Amino acid sequence: MNTIEKYKQYVNTAFVKAVEPVVVVEGKGAKIHDENGKVYTDLFAGISVVNAGHCNPEILAAAKAQMDCLVHCCSYLYHVPVVADLAEKLAQITPGRLQKSFFGSAGAEANEAAMRLAKQFTKKQEFISLQGSFHGRSWGTLSITGNCGRKRGGGPYATGCTFHPAPYCYRCPYQMAYPACDLYCAKDLERTIQFNTSDNVAAFIIEPVMGEGGIIVPPPEYFQELQPVLDRHGILLFTDEVQSGFGRTGHFFAIEHYQGTEPDIMTMAKGIADGFPLSCVIARSEIADSFRPGDHLSTFGGNPVSCAASLANIAYFEREKLPEKTLEKGEALIGELKELQKMQPLMGDVRGLGLMVGVELVTDQAKTPATEQANAVRGLMRQKGFLIGVGGTWGNVLRLQPPLVISVEELSASVSALDESLRAL
Ligand code: PLP
Repeated sequence: MNTIEKYKQYVNTAFVKAVEPVVVVEGKGAKIHDENGKVYTDLFAGISVVNAGHCNPEILAAAKAQMDCLVHCCSYLYHVPVVADLAEKLAQITPGRLQKSFFGSAGAEANEAAMRLAKQFTKKQEFISLQGSFHGRSWGTLSITGNCGRKRGGGPYATGCTFHPAPYCYRCPYQMAYPACDLYCAKDLERTIQFNTSDNVAAFIIEPVMGEGGIIVPPPEYFQELQPVLDRHGILLFTDEVQSGFGRTGHFFAIEHYQGTEPDIMTMAKGIADGFPLSCVIARSEIADSFRPGDHLSTFGGNPVSCAASLANIAYFEREKLPEKTLEKGEALIGELKELQKMQPLMGDVRGLGLMVGVELVTDQAKTPATEQANAVRGLMRQKGFLIGVGGTWGNVLRLQPPLVISVEELSASVSALDESLRAL
């Protein structure tokens, strides 16, 4: 049996429409090699994970060196130097007063821990998140995920979870237009609290740039309008940077685009260790310290090899000025896509920050989602040697989230391939 046949026989993939018909044997930088020697430009980075590039040699060297010393002993049973070093570094690079880290292995695990922490600290039980959001596949994180497509068949979910309309300007839930709307979607949080909760809300949970929901970037003043509402009700701001973090949007963390905004709790995973499994919830000290003995733990959390990889990853980012370069590359990419949009009526909206870029495909002026076309474009791009993602509430948003080390030439070639693919439909 070959790999694809073994997958069919032995790997449970019933939960995805299809696994892409590519057998990946090697990855370097922004390139992926399949078993037949075909080389692809990777525009999805394993769902926005290998930000410093596939098999980055510096990160691999750090991980290998750690493997020669210690792979696991449970970082919450004993003190492990590399765990302490990473926690110190994260306190330095995260915004505001975020200071103490809890490490897990996946984004959902970090979000679960953050939910628990928010409850412990505030002694309140409810959460508000956004319509269209995605926060993970565990029961708790699905409970705060605002998309029935992800939740179907898994209910009933946790009570006390309320969903507020997202700042999705292209399809404004209030039928308004920015900036004339005066940020009504942020101000209206007051009414959501008033009418949909018992005013017992521990945290407002938000992806600073929504990923799975279709790359939704809030307007620049969004968080400054939101904060007074949160303050009035003593609600913590919990930013889920699992997808938008680690340079993806052109800052280390996407919330840094919103000056003056200080999250109380922040979660991260994906790009944190360039592919090694690791996640983290970081909080202000007084919030982190509200856990009591027995409240929480994770056997694999803070795995020394992943932590060593993460430290090398961050060092690489800093030395190479990867976030700054990402901002420039992203602006160039979005500029080229906007030019293409003038000639491609299917391209309803081009949006993004840094290299977290979405192209929403629609069939007409009424913005009917072009879901089939989005899937077809992904297939055509693959044939041409470019791997992209597809997402959004209606599955009609092309997602371009490459390794951040991708070159401007590779990005331009991707736009040309997209042009050809759209023409071929
Ligand atoms: N939060 C966000 C914003 C995500 O995009 C994801 C995954 O796509 C998760 C949480 C869940 O992360 P994981 O799949 O590592 O559990």
